[in-house]
Amino acid sequence: MAYVSSSPFVLAVVAIVASTFTASAEGEVNLYSSRHYDTDERLYSDFTEATGITVNRIEGNADELIARMQAEGMNSPADVLITVDTSRLKRAADAGILQSVDSDMLEARIPAHLQDTDNQWFGFSQRARIIFYDKNDVANPPMDYLSLADPAYEGMVCHRSSTNVYSQTLLASVIENHGEGAATSWAQGLVRNFAREPQGGDTDQLRAIVSGECNIAIANTYYFARALRTDVSGLSESIDQIGWVFPAQEAEGAHMNLSGAGVAANAPNGDNAIAFLEYLASDQAQQYFSAGNDEYPAVEGVAMSESVASLGEFKADDVNLSSVALNLPTAQKIFDTVGWK
Ligand code: FE
Repeated sequence: MAYVSSSPFVLAVVAIVASTFTASAEGEVNLYSSRHYDTDERLYSDFTEATGITVNRIEGNADELIARMQAEGMNSPADVLITVDTSRLKRAADAGILQSVDSDMLEARIPAHLQDTDNQWFGFSQRARIIFYDKNDVANPPMDYLSLADPAYEGMVCHRSSTNVYSQTLLASVIENHGEGAATSWAQGLVRNFAREPQGGDTDQLRAIVSGECNIAIANTYYFARALRTDVSGLSESIDQIGWVFPAQEAEGAHMNLSGAGVAANAPNGDNAIAFLEYLASDQAQQYFSAGNDEYPAVEGVAMSESVASLGEFKADDVNLSSVALNLPTAQKIFDTVGWK
């Protein structure tokens, strides 16, 4: 499977695919998507097959797409915005480019904590952000997020930069679960424990365990499951060396990162946009998220792919992600205070 890394650098150079939408016509839906997975193609073609609605797609980095929708305003051809991470979904809602969606199907299928309180966005797939470690070096891995800041792990831990949304939402969830004071001490301790300056994407954190640069790293499950399922250079061949911990199982549970979508405020094909979101919540689409991209389905009871299931069962943090997103400005303040680059 071809795969494009989600590192900020790579996303920055993924140009928006030039595409001219025809004027609003029946039988179309226009997607603005920052999901960067080739396997999503299957989602779109099956939707068209099932409904006869043509899918037009503009791909780009989330911030560019949000800015573009703002600039286009009332004339925006966008019907649906699809993106990864709660922080971006929240940013889109705050920017006024999404609308509340009234769908009994989405209400029933998507768990309440994975939807915006005002129904401006819904989560369709999840990944757990968990602790990975070198089995040869680490006899007692941290069992929860707060322990990553324990002085016992000084110089051992790797994480991405604070400019990355995964870092931002993780800290925002620590604030939500443990309060600002504890979150600040935690971030301070974590920075002290860093094995190197934050850099690279999630796969790079895992590769750095293999290379010996880091003993402990935090990454989303789908990067690891992908390396189990298919060959990822610098990782798959030595993946047995890496152990994993679903953190905080006796407490709040593992932090979940969300991929979701919302209907554009000025959607010219609003009904088709809702039909598309409802399709994303169908069993078939939910299975693609797992089989094609090693994610956890948002809808309960949908079968997981083998690679994802092999990570084992765990308790997920079901804190409301809409509330977590409100902590993002505080998270930024903490990053600056503790010097998490
Ligand atoms: Fe990613």
